Amino acid sequence: GDASLDIDTLVIGAGPGGYVAAIRAAQLGQKVIIADKGKFGGVCLNVGCIPSKALINSAHHYESMLHAEDYGLSAENVKVDFGKVQGYKDSVVNKMTSGVEMLLKANKVQMFQGEVMFINENEARLFNDQEAPRYRFKNCIIATGSRPIELKPFPFGGRILSSTEALSLPEVPKSMVIIGGGYIGIELGQMYAKFGTEITILEGADTIMPGFDKDMSNLVVKKLKKNKVDIVNGALAKGAEQTDKDVTVTYEVGGEQKTVTADYLLVTVGRRPNTDGELGLDLIGIKTTDRGLIEVDDQCRTNIKHIFAIGDIVPGAALAHKASYEAKVAAEAIAGLPSKVDYKCIPAVAFSDPECASVGYTEKEAKDKGLNVKSSKFPFGGNGRAVTLNGADGFLKLISEVDSGLVVGAQIAGVEASNMIAELGLAIEMGATIEDIALTIHAHPTLGEITMDAAELAMGHPIHTI
Ligand code: FAD
Repeated sequence: GDASLDIDTLVIGAGPGGYVAAIRAAQLGQKVIIADKGKFGGVCLNVGCIPSKALINSAHHYESMLHAEDYGLSAENVKVDFGKVQGYKDSVVNKMTSGVEMLLKANKVQMFQGEVMFINENEARLFNDQEAPRYRFKNCIIATGSRPIELKPFPFGGRILSSTEALSLPEVPKSMVIIGGGYIGIELGQMYAKFGTEITILEGADTIMPGFDKDMSNLVVKKLKKNKVDIVNGALAKGAEQTDKDVTVTYEVGGEQKTVTADYLLVTVGRRPNTDGELGLDLIGIKTTDRGLIEVDDQCRTNIKHIFAIGDIVPGAALAHKASYEAKVAAEAIAGLPSKVDYKCIPAVAFSDPECASVGYTEKEAKDKGLNVKSSKFPFGGNGRAVTLNGADGFLKLISEVDSGLVVGAQIAGVEASNMIAELGLAIEMGATIEDIALTIHAHPTLGEITMDAAELAMGHPIHTI
């Protein structure tokens, strides 16, 4: 009595990969079911991008209030009620996740709260505590995402946190050690530092945020020092011992053994794809790399031609917008459209203070590719809006081809860099030149003028810098 139900497309996982794939497939006429064993919205909306940005926003406003006199204001008795901060964060998350469910419903996507296991390459079992229907699908999009890497000497639990627990602490800790100075560790560490936590960052490499140019991360380091964060580079974390009140971390730096004790240890050393476990990829013969990532072609198709994979489980940057981009390509490929991925222009953003954002090539990457490029660096201090925002510390670097003037990359460190990078992504996508940007009238006073100024600088006639 267990016949399969029929569906066109099964989507596994409802993060920014899965839910976007489901909506796009439905728009293209597919009968779609999407299943998630956790919460709809995935890591991004529940325990990633959105809650972290909500907390960072609270911390930013708190920091501004503590420096109210910078703006001619006086704010007395400024206090953090972290329970209420968490309430604000939860309300943001709830608005966004219920929005996702509303969109899926409006697009007539069937939703299933539960886990998926493949039975064979055409059928899967969907199950939760109440029911366990089986579905026969014509196409499948796997979007099961990733989870924090757990290191043997630092098992999560008690005083040892992953990013997930670090987003839901009931109080502002007095102190916290962070292993791993990638963007997630820096975003969370700087947020807590602004709330008053004494932060120690243990980073194995000689720089934090290794994905970004050093002159960008240097600005973040400068601000972290103002936030009284202690950064230990070249640190090899060895072990941890916890009591019910605190945790002591042993590490080695410069051949010396040291210890540091804090309320919590947060381990942010990367993420592991959810391709192991009960899902049954082995059973149906889906090919993965040694790192457990699913191999796909330029339409996100796996080695089984009607099964696609997108997001954190495939190679490339583990970022929400990359997952959503691949989602649209996979759904369109299923509908027979000629869509293909093109990774030339995927922006990367760290919501550190200052924000760091990059798109296209860095100067070095362009040169390594054999391109004859120049880099034009314009300081935020030369922009009126940046100065009104107390954001003079920053720069925009525009990378352009010397002969053609084509824009091939940009890096921005500064206030609102996250929002500014979009214009440069569009410029690269559209094949814009520095002249196109220089001739585009940007409203005054806005941060966008920095982009125009950098283009004029690249053309050799800057107005607002010397
Ligand atoms: P996920 O969002 O991980 O979703 C996968 C879903 O699949 C989960 O809901 C899971 O429950 C479900 N699932 C897994 N296995 C099964 C199964 N067998 N059956 C049913 N369901 C299953 N990215 C950015 O671009 N910008 C940011 O600012 C940013 N900030 C971040 C901050 C933090 C603290 C973290 C941890 C991540 C952040 N990221 C950010 C990364 C971003 O969250 C991920 O890249 C993104 O969520 C990946 O999307 P996905 O759809 O591939 O998978």
